[in-house]
Amino acid sequence: MHKIKEVQNIIGNKFKIKSLNEAGFTGVLSEEQNTLEGNALEKANFIYEKLKCNCFADDTGLEVELLNGKPGVYSARYAGNECDSEANINKLLHELKNKSNRNALFRTVIALKYNNQQYFFEGIIKGKIIEQKKGKGGFGYDSIFLPDGFTQTFAEMYASQKDNISHRAIAVQKLAEFLKNKTDKA
Ligand code: IMP
Repeated sequence: MHKIKEVQNIIGNKFKIKSLNEAGFTGVLSEEQNTLEGNALEKANFIYEKLKCNCFADDTGLEVELLNGKPGVYSARYAGNECDSEANINKLLHELKNKSNRNALFRTVIALKYNNQQYFFEGIIKGKIIEQKKGKGGFGYDSIFLPDGFTQTFAEMYASQKDNISHRAIAVQKLAEFLKNKTDKA
């Protein structure tokens, strides 16, 4: 619901964004692909076919330079299928122990199905993986991600501050721009 609200605020009232629940779908969507683009499109295609309405879906990953882009699309289950953020963070910190290249980025991909066409919107924020967790807010890898140009990790920022600059916000802005410029009927 937080995501829906965030997107609706950015897009304004030209389009009414519905959650899956509001649109009448209560199942679980699978993410079986090995790219963010693939997963986002898989989810959007599934709902487009099932509910016959324009829709979008997103997928996000943390890509670490030294690890050739890992954990990437596997960010949620980096330390194993049953693992939580704590375990994922510990695994990543272990792999980067004593390493000087700590460059990383968060990448969000939104796949939009709109009147039978498909479109992608990408949001990236670059930063560094710090050596120990800092901050109590946020979720996932927030406590070890220091965005470039800032002195606070995502977990130390106010949610509103993170939501303004995040990978997701950038992708959503692009989606919003696209929809605002649409003149055909949705
Ligand atoms: P999702 O595609 O939004 O479900 O994100 C997949 C995984 O990436 C999450 O389970 C988190 O581990 C990580 N992730 C996504 N977005 C963020 C974020 O904004 N901060 C920290 N971790 C994130």
